[in-house]
Amino acid sequence: MKSIAVFCGSSEGSSSIYKESAIQLGQELARNQITLIYGGANVGLMGIVADAVLNHGGSVIGVLPQFLQNREIAHPSLTELIMVESMHERKAKMVELADGFIALPGGPGTLEEYFEIFTWGQLGLHQKPCGLLNINHYFDPLISMFDTMERNQFMQTKYRAMVITDETPEGMLKQFSVYEAPSVKSYLTEERT
Ligand code: AMP
Repeated sequence: MKSIAVFCGSSEGSSSIYKESAIQLGQELARNQITLIYGGANVGLMGIVADAVLNHGGSVIGVLPQFLQNREIAHPSLTELIMVESMHERKAKMVELADGFIALPGGPGTLEEYFEIFTWGQLGLHQKPCGLLNINHYFDPLISMFDTMERNQFMQTKYRAMVITDETPEGMLKQFSVYEAPSVKSYLTEERT
């Protein structure tokens, strides 16, 4: 795996545990020579994970929409900063560049990015792993929602297996290394499992 896109909060969160986890993830990416692909901003956990990769000798590519440049403040010392026109272009570029995706704790923006990429995987538009780094049990309610979806047959069991969760960056990368994407979703012919 050469590159991983990280989605995370443009805020730092309430506890230092979030900041420490973002640093650990950045260190682990750099140690494994995995390029960080992220939103390009210098704020919140986004800036922290980028700094951690750079401080440990790794590479970081930021993808930032022009209109957000003032609000999110472009990181000044990335390996590469790609400016795009829109949020859609940002996500498309991140998908193109990354071999896998990890969500750290964040707000609605983080979840939006995670869900769009997750559903693209479900539709077979990519075969790349998507993980929730479950720091401080932050994603427990979301994981429980996935269980509810499966139990109520709004999500097939094989797609439930696409919800990769781990509490450590090392564990997540290990799971990514053996990930196999499920076969493509077909609404018309597939049996519900
Ligand atoms: P948040 O988790 O809400 O702090 O947002 C984290 C990142 O998600 C920021 O870079 C936002 O620009 C980005 N974001 C917010 N809304 C969206 C959206 N609708 N689509 C894609 N990215 C978004």
